Amino acid sequence: MKLYAPSTIREIKDKYDFRLSKSLGQNFLTDKNIIDKIIEESFIGENDLVIEIGPGIGVLTAEAAEQAGKVIAVEIDKNLIPILKDTLSQYDNVEVVNRDILKSDLNEMIAQSSLINGKSVNSVRIIGNLPYYITTPIIMKILEDGVKADSITIMMQKEVADRIKAEAGKKAYGALSVAVQYYCTVSHVANVPKEVFVPQPKVDSTVIRLDIRKEKPVKLKDEKIFFQCVKAGFGQRRKTMLNSLTGVCGLSKEQVGQVMESIGIDSGRRAETMNIDEFANLANSVYDKIR
Ligand code: SAM
Repeated sequence: MKLYAPSTIREIKDKYDFRLSKSLGQNFLTDKNIIDKIIEESFIGENDLVIEIGPGIGVLTAEAAEQAGKVIAVEIDKNLIPILKDTLSQYDNVEVVNRDILKSDLNEMIAQSSLINGKSVNSVRIIGNLPYYITTPIIMKILEDGVKADSITIMMQKEVADRIKAEAGKKAYGALSVAVQYYCTVSHVANVPKEVFVPQPKVDSTVIRLDIRKEKPVKLKDEKIFFQCVKAGFGQRRKTMLNSLTGVCGLSKEQVGQVMESIGIDSGRRAETMNIDEFANLANSVYDKIR
C-alpha cells in the first residue's frame, strides 16, 4: 500500500470514518520525494532512536522504521491510533504513543529506550511534519528542556523557517533566530509547495535540520539574562537598544548607556542589527553591572 497516495488517505477516511482535523493541523504529505528527502537528511542509523512528532497516518514513520533501531511516534489524535496500528503493522520497531507532544517528557522517553536490541542507542533523531499552529512552542520546548537529541529534522511553514535561519541585519531576523541558533546549527533541507499536502494548506513549507550543538557558540555568565536582553531588544523592534533595555534587570537608562559604552556598542543600535556575539557581550556586561 502506498501510504502517501491521496487515494490511500481517501480509503482510510472511508474505512475508519476518520475526519481530518483542521485545528490539529492535519495536512498529510503525499510526495514520496519529499518524504525520502526528510528521511535521508535525518541521517538515521540502524542503532538510532527516532522520535516522530505527529505521525498522521504514518508516511514518515514507515520510512523511518526501515532505517532506525526504534521509532517512537507521538500522536495527539486518538482517532489516528487504530489507523497507525494498521498502517504500521509490519514494523515491530515502532511504538505509537497517544499523547500531546507539548505535555510529553522526551528525556524520560529517551531514557526508557536507551537500549535497542541490547545495544545502547547511538543517536537520537527527532523528525516531523509539524502541526503549524504549535511549531515554535514545540521547537523551543525541545531546546529549552535540554532534550538529549542529536538532531531535529522538521517541516514547517516557510515563514517560520525563514525566521529561524535569518542572520543579523535581515528582515526575518528576530528573537527566534537568536534562540534557535544559540542551541543549534541550522541547515536548509527542502522547499515544499503547498500542492503536495492533503488537504492543501494556505502556505508553502520548508524542511530544515537543526543539529543540536555540543558546545554553545558564545560563553554566557547567565543564560537567563541573555534571553531577557534578546526578548526585550526585539520586543519593540523600532526602539533603540538603549530604550528597549531600560528596566531589564532593574537597570536605569543611564546604567544601560554605561553598559553599552563599556563594550563599544552604540546605544542607538536596534536589536535587528545585533548578532549573537554582541547579544552575549551585552548580557555578560549587564550581569557584571548588577552583581
Ligand atoms: N506526519 C504526517 C504527514 O506528514 O503526513 C502528519 C503531519 S500533520 C501536518 C501533523 C500531525 O501532528 C497530525 O497527525 C496531528 O494530529 C498531529 N498533532 C497535532 N498536534 C499535536 C500535538 N500537540 N502532539 C502530537 N501530535 C500532534
